Amino acid sequence: MALAVALRHRQIPFHIFEKDSRFDQRSQGYGLTLQQARRALRALGIVENDEDSDSVDDNDGNNNSRSSGSGKILQQHAVTSTKHVVHTPDGSICGEWGLRKWKWTGNRIKPQSSRGKNKKRRQNLHVPRQTLRYVLYEALKEASADNNDDSPDISWGHKLVDIQPVFGDIGDEDNHNGKDYSNYDDTDSDNDNDGVPLFTESIATKAKGIVKQITPLRYLHCIVILGICSLGDLFKQESTNMTRQQQKQKQIQLSALLDGETVFQTADGTTRIYLMPYSKKNNEYMWQLSFPIPDEEIALDLSRRGPKALKDEALRRCQSWHVPIPEILEATPIELVSGYPVYDRDLLTAEILSTSRRREIIPRPLTSTTGTDSASTSCSFSFLPATLLGDAAHPMSPFKGQGANQALIDALSLARILYRVHCREGRSLGDALELYEKEMMDRSSTKVRASSEAAKFLHTEIAIQKGDVTRGAAFSSSSVTKK
Ligand SMILES: Cc1cc2nc3c(=O)[nH]c(=O)nc-3n(C[C@H](O)[C@H](O)[C@H](O)COP(=O)(O)OP(=O)(O)OC[C@H]3O[C@@H](n4cnc5c(N)ncnc54)[C@H](O)[C@@H]3O)c2cc1C
Repeated sequence: MALAVALRHRQIPFHIFEKDSRFDQRSQGYGLTLQQARRALRALGIVENDEDSDSVDDNDGNNNSRSSGSGKILQQHAVTSTKHVVHTPDGSICGEWGLRKWKWTGNRIKPQSSRGKNKKRRQNLHVPRQTLRYVLYEALKEASADNNDDSPDISWGHKLVDIQPVFGDIGDEDNHNGKDYSNYDDTDSDNDNDGVPLFTESIATKAKGIVKQITPLRYLHCIVILGICSLGDLFKQESTNMTRQQQKQKQIQLSALLDGETVFQTADGTTRIYLMPYSKKNNEYMWQLSFPIPDEEIALDLSRRGPKALKDEALRRCQSWHVPIPEILEATPIELVSGYPVYDRDLLTAEILSTSRRREIIPRPLTSTTGTDSASTSCSFSFLPATLLGDAAHPMSPFKGQGANQALIDALSLARILYRVHCREGRSLGDALELYEKEMMDRSSTKVRASSEAAKFLHTEIAIQKGDVTRGAAFSSSSVTKK
């Protein structure tokens, strides 16, 4: 969706095929922390607030500095965190950071200087994944209205099943007359093939084979259990069988960390829980509990046993932890609990992607003008006009909160490079995709590695090492100390 917005801004034609039959087919039940991608959102025209807008140039000469409808929706639902606290299970604080830690003046945050304004933009934004999708969908409508383009751009219920390569002569990669080279399975119909012949030995299949062979999914030896709990449910549960006085006392106790702006995590050196504001409108919190399970089959088994087993496991591990952790776990509705083993994938390289795209140089005999076969040959190629972005290119563990951030930046990067290299400079589509893939892989690979490291160190004593620094920084300093 983000790519579609960026393409529409540049008037590059596109069509989205989405396998879900409608926007809200699946619950998209977890929250995202947006870090660097806040800037990408602004370049996509999703500007939250006129006051702190800083004229984001989208690199193609467009200036997105006015707040937009999509930006206002984001602002309504998203939460900006101003403090991050780390505890041990008894509630002792071992680290704190964030704007409020450093700028707290008693009862309010100090007014920001212009340098402070930059800091504000660097704060993390927490947003339900489904809200972000909705905001992007709105941004696409806005971009279409700006371009007076009301062409239908999304086909729901269409699953990509294969991509047809383009055949032609060397140097002719872009001469494919605007045809659609993809095959789609209309998932609304029972017909698997929808009458479109699928290529049994297509390049897409081969490319998929190569990618799977070279970069299989890698189990990261841990599981995450997720839940969403509203403060309404929490307080309701706590007030049964209590006097008014006790209720008030308990609410104060519960509210200390649940002020809507604090992110907190607690760990015991093995199990870790991370809690963040999830939705401003519904006053909800999301928790993410994780712990190591060396054997993938055991992790899969726990995940398959479903929400009740997952919630029981979370409660078993944290029942004696500090307020409000057991209370929140207890008050979380079963239907809002889920859990999965964690995976990433060995890194792809730009070379693998480009080789998968343009694989076959097929010598072909030339036919002379007299109709007889000439001894010389020309070369033809098969070209797969496709690339990857987001999780398809670089799945990573959720422990650095970078997957969606990188996916949004990928989208902007791909649109910018297509526009500059292919549309403006007139270079081939292959050249543009290669440049994009190099930038995308260089940028995201460090995040994949860091996310994989975090899957390990967050389940060790480093998670509760003393120090007012992020756990990533605590890990870096501990590895420096060890060297
Ligand atoms: C628990 C958890 C917490 C996370 N927290 C964060 C965080 O805080 N910050 C962060 O940046 N990231 C986070 N992530 C990662 C983030 O959710 C993903 O990296 C991000 O959603 C990837 O976006 P994507 O568009 O590449 O893929 P997706 O969001 O998976 O979107 C892919 C879309 O393509 C559709 N599709 C798939 N296959 C086909 C097909 N064959 N044909 C047609 N359509 C198809 C799908 O239905 C889907 O709509 C978290 C992930 C998890 C699991």
